[in-house]
Amino acid sequence: MGIIIKDLTKKYGDQLALNKVSFSIDQGEVVGLLGPNGAGKSTLMKSITNAINPDSGEILVNNSSVRENPIETKKQIGFLQENNPLYMEMFVKEYLQFVMNIHGLKKERVEEVIKMVGLTPERHKKIHQLSKGYKQRVGLAQSILSNPEILILDEPTNGLDPNQILEIRDLIREISKDKTIILSTHIMQEVEALCSRVILLNKGEIVADQPIEEFKGQYKSLE
Ligand code: ADP
Ligand code: ADP
Repeated sequence: MGIIIKDLTKKYGDQLALNKVSFSIDQGEVVGLLGPNGAGKSTLMKSITNAINPDSGEILVNNSSVRENPIETKKQIGFLQENNPLYMEMFVKEYLQFVMNIHGLKKERVEEVIKMVGLTPERHKKIHQLSKGYKQRVGLAQSILSNPEILILDEPTNGLDPNQILEIRDLIREISKDKTIILSTHIMQEVEALCSRVILLNKGEIVADQPIEEFKGQYKSLE
């Protein structure tokens, strides 16, 4: 169970975005994918969710190949994209019900998830009326609707103010209790706050893959 990635390579034209990336993540791990802009984080996450086709290599989600079983593997993954697009004119609850219908899942789950992410007082508001922090709660709600085992969060606190960042981190901590999580960020503090392990990516290659405590020690000595 979990995620296994073997020799994943992706080029956009001449631009190498991922160069033979390999790692595995056990069920229940919360892993921070850290790296500067252009490191290949998005390309890696989009490969796992099958939004793009890597050139070579293999991705196994719960022992099933993403390339061979795209529908089955995608069902097991919740994905919060960076700048997650939302239907701003819809009401919060209406939007989540709409997403629910696409998944073909039970309606009761919407209420449950609204409660879980603290959107109960906002559920009858239009999404565009919400603050950025609350819009991100809608995004998080959407990503866990199908109760996926694996959650992939791309820069989940980007663009939020300091209070909203703390709130969203609390929420992620809450949600992550029974899930395998990959969280991408370019901010070290975010990894420290949420993750037990860090994979540092630079120019399409893994330059570190360590428990967070070990990584912190080395990072401090670099400063
Ligand atoms: P990150 O998410 O870490 O910022 P990306 O995966 O977005 O990194 O990008 C990795 C590299 O691939 C960068 O050099 C980026 O410019 C390039 N890249 C990403 N997407 C495309 C694309 N659709 N076309 C061309 N180059 C791309
Ligand atoms: P991120 O770092 O989160 O990937 P970017 O701003 O790098 O955000 O990319 C936004 C979108 O543009 C992504 O879909 C990415 O694949 C695409 N993209 C990134 N770099 C390039 C590039 N050099 N040429 C074309 N598309 C790109």
